[in-house]
Amino acid sequence: MATAEDLKQLLLYHSYDQRLLAVHQSVREIEKKAKNTAIGRGESAKKIASMEGQLQEQNEAWKASERALKSAISRASTLREKVDSSGKMLQWSLLSKQLEDTLSKIKGEEESQLRIIEEMETIGRDIDQERELLAAMDGESLAKQMREQLDTARGNLADIGEKMQGIQSHIPVKFFENYLRLRHSIAHPPFMVGLRDGFICGGCRMRLPTELNPAASIENDELIACDFCHRILYCNGSEE
Ligand SMILES: [Zn+2]
Repeated sequence: MATAEDLKQLLLYHSYDQRLLAVHQSVREIEKKAKNTAIGRGESAKKIASMEGQLQEQNEAWKASERALKSAISRASTLREKVDSSGKMLQWSLLSKQLEDTLSKIKGEEESQLRIIEEMETIGRDIDQERELLAAMDGESLAKQMREQLDTARGNLADIGEKMQGIQSHIPVKFFENYLRLRHSIAHPPFMVGLRDGFICGGCRMRLPTELNPAASIENDELIACDFCHRILYCNGSEE
C-alpha cells in the first residue's frame, strides 16, 4: 500500500526521470553536431579545391592572353613601320587595315585580362572566406569542446541513473511498476502533473469527464492517468 511519502519519493524519482531524458537529448544533439561538423568540413574542403581549380584555369587564360598580347604588340609595331614606309596606295591601305585589326586585338586582350583579374580576385576572396570557415570548423578546440560536453553529459547520465536507483528502492514495487507502465505512453515531459480542482489535468488543462481522487487511488498502489494526454495525475495537496 502506497502512502503520501511514497508519492513524494515517486515525484522525486520523476524529476530525475525528466532530467535523464533531457540529458539523453543533449547527448544526441552533441553527437549530431559533431557529425554535421565533420560533413561540413569535408564539403568546405571540396569547395576550396574546386575554387583553386578555377583559379588555376583563370591563370592559364591569363598566360594565353599575355602571349597573344605580346605577339599582337610586336606585329603592330612591324605593321606600323611598314605603313609608314609604304608608298603604294593599295599596299598602304591593306597594311593600315591589318594594323587596325591588330590594335583592336590588343584592346580585346587587355579587356579580357582585366576581366580575368577581377574574376581571380573574386575567387581569391571566396577561397579566403571558405578557408576561414573551415578553420573555424576544423578547430581542435571545437572537437575538444564537444568531447568534453559528451563526457560531462554521459557522466551526468550515470549520476542520475544511480540516484534514481536509490530512490526507487524506497518506493513500493507495485506502485513503482504502475508508474513505469503509465510513463511509457507519455510522449513529452512532465510525466506527472498535479490535478486541479479534482477534474482539470495540470498538463493539458483538459477537463476530465468525472471527478478523480488520485489520493485514494494511491492507497491501492494505483495511479490515475489523464484521458487526453495520458500524464500521471496526483493531488497537489499530497506534495506538501
Ligand atoms: Zn492531460
